[in-house]
Amino acid sequence: MKIAILPGDGIGPEITKQAVDVLKALKLGAELLEAQIGGAGYEKFGDPLPDSTLDLAIKSDAVLLGAVGDWKYDSLPREKRPERGLLRIRKELNLFANLRPAILYSELVGASSLKPEIVSNLDIMIVRELTGDIYFGQPRGIHENENGEREGINTMRYSESEIKRIAHVAFQIAMKRSKKLCSVDKANVLETTELWRQVMIDISKEYPEVDLTHMYVDNAAMQLIKNPKQFDVLVTGNIFGDILSDEASMLTGSIGMLPSASLDSNNKGMYEPSHGSAPDIAGKNIANPLATILSLAMMFRYTFNEEKIANKIESAVKKALSQGFRTADIYSAGDKKVSCSEMGEAVIASLN
Ligand code: NAD
Repeated sequence: MKIAILPGDGIGPEITKQAVDVLKALKLGAELLEAQIGGAGYEKFGDPLPDSTLDLAIKSDAVLLGAVGDWKYDSLPREKRPERGLLRIRKELNLFANLRPAILYSELVGASSLKPEIVSNLDIMIVRELTGDIYFGQPRGIHENENGEREGINTMRYSESEIKRIAHVAFQIAMKRSKKLCSVDKANVLETTELWRQVMIDISKEYPEVDLTHMYVDNAAMQLIKNPKQFDVLVTGNIFGDILSDEASMLTGSIGMLPSASLDSNNKGMYEPSHGSAPDIAGKNIANPLATILSLAMMFRYTFNEEKIANKIESAVKKALSQGFRTADIYSAGDKKVSCSEMGEAVIASLN
């Protein structure tokens, strides 16, 4: 196992260290190689994705990323900004499948803005296509039309092969979970997603055990709030997935708890918390490292196919929470308030 560790900026180094310590405590003999990305890459090499970092990521089996970004880089030219490094590495590694679980731990049910009975035991997986759709389709731009007024254009576009490969990822994940898959589209209005639906139905024949359903995106947005537990795995395109995954993640109420994975066609992946670099709390040892530790669990599940190790890490997180350990972002009166590093230690102590 060769794993690239890219701590990045802000709280990135603090939270990544906790996940690396968990990895070391598992004693799996993984080879860990650290490199700079984002502002850290810019500071050292004048580039948010230095060649040496990209090279390392390409040669590794998986990448663990902290977060990138800091307001102090806002005045840099766009191609030098930290976020550019993140977008480039996703594209260079061809990470077309973004997996975003929204899991609500029973200990944190009070953190959601929805009623406990609606969200308790929530466990949804959103599979979002990440490298196609209206975000990348050509033509695009702002130009002057024949009436002399400005016009903006973006093009929603999916090829059959792009839909097929994300469909396979989603069906395979559904097979590992409850064998229920809901495909979200707008097939009543948009031809692109009419094709999306047809391809989903075609691919479903290769996975006869999976119960495939379809839902229009407007209804899905509503159902996620009304009755989120009806869903297990959702699969959708880039723009719908962008919006729905943020909506679903907020059902759990705590950004510091949410992991993510972005995979290529060989299940090589980049694993990172869903949150950003939180410059407001960086360097204070108070950030929640659990999203990063849970991203590590996803790495074992999806890249290394080591379900037992993934479960072991997730159970340790749950145990630390059930013992009352809480970082500041998820703390309420009566809990044991701990620092970022103490939370990491609590997870390690719960591994056995
Ligand atoms: P953010 O996610 O960094 O922070 C939002 C709020 O959540 C802040 O109050 C922060 O303190 C808190 N928070 C975030 N993660 C936390 C954690 N683990 N523990 C406790 N509290 C946590 O979003 P932002 O403030 O909009 O952006 C800050 C920087 O991060 C920007 O430069 C932005 O571009 C970048 N960003 C990076 C990524 C990424 O690396 N994937 C994603 C989003 C934003």
